[in-house]
Amino acid sequence: MIDVQLEVKENPNKKPKPDPENLQFGKMFTDHMFTMEYSRDKGWFQPQIVPYEPITLEPAAMIFHYGQSVFEGLKAYLTEDGDVQLFRPEENLKRLNRSNARLSIPPVSEELMLNYLKQLITVEKDWVPSAEGTSLYIRPFIIATEPSLSVAPSKSYKLMVILSPVGSYYPEGIHPVSIQVEDHFTRAVRGGTGTAKTGGNYSAGYNAQESAANQGHAQVMWLDGVEKKYIEEVGSMNVFFKINGQVVTPELNDSILEGVTRKSIIELLKEWKFDVVERKISMNELYQAYESGHLEEAFGAGTAAVVSPIGELSSGDQSMIINGRQTGELTKSLYSTITGIQTGKLPDPFGWTEKVE
Ligand SMILES: *Cc1c(COP(=O)(O)O)cnc(C)c1O
Repeated sequence: MIDVQLEVKENPNKKPKPDPENLQFGKMFTDHMFTMEYSRDKGWFQPQIVPYEPITLEPAAMIFHYGQSVFEGLKAYLTEDGDVQLFRPEENLKRLNRSNARLSIPPVSEELMLNYLKQLITVEKDWVPSAEGTSLYIRPFIIATEPSLSVAPSKSYKLMVILSPVGSYYPEGIHPVSIQVEDHFTRAVRGGTGTAKTGGNYSAGYNAQESAANQGHAQVMWLDGVEKKYIEEVGSMNVFFKINGQVVTPELNDSILEGVTRKSIIELLKEWKFDVVERKISMNELYQAYESGHLEEAFGAGTAAVVSPIGELSSGDQSMIINGRQTGELTKSLYSTITGIQTGKLPDPFGWTEKVE
């Protein structure tokens, strides 16, 4: 274990903690952040914990022009014993480096980054909310900072980690949502950037998201960009279907984002001796399964919600009502098991959790 004691510049103006009953997602940030710089001659240098405050960049900084950036998202949970723990943070750091590689950003040391994350969270320990379903959201990200309009990788970068206390995704209990299948816009294609967590992927999805919202749907389901036939993801979540007892999730195909929640669900289902497969699944197959009464459950999977049951799936003039718009039994079990492990209420036989101190 590498142990580098970071310099902490303490924030003299500490904010009052938010009302735990009214936490929104990503609207409020803690008193401190982690920052680190990169230059070609020094590599990654000057890791530090500083007050959360605006940063200064030149208008020519490359992030503003060609979008060279990556990010991650994970959470810290307070256990009943008062410990703070992370859920599979190594997976997020591995993925950060995979995103870096795709965006021509230099890699970071995963071991050092985990140590830095823990030190930052330790400084901000009092910000980890304790109410049921709440957590401290962790957003590491990297931006290109070189002032240059050349269409080429930046020679300098800034890595930051900001923290935001977040409320329960389900303040009124877990409930199924309505989803619109997107038949025009594309999120990602093989060989593109869909496998990386990089900013532009998300803004490119706003058009579809807005049209789904205008028609009363909570999210968009994305199809493959070439044939518009195969299911890829739902919103910013991976997707699972339970069909005639078998659990199916789209296989990693160089355009789907490989979620940590997705991976955990697959591992858990295998442990539970479920038949779980990663393969191509078309809208046509799904509709056939629905028509024959075999489409039993459907849900999205991601860090924010853990699982988000799908109650209705609407595609053109076809609409499927799944499990009578009720949350399925398997969806419920996955939710309670994963959140139980994350918060320390259930034992962690997989070694998925990691204490920060
Ligand atoms: C982050 C993300 C996911 C879910 O990943 P988790 O690691 O489970 O949070 C799925 N799809 C997209 C497009 C994402 O950005």
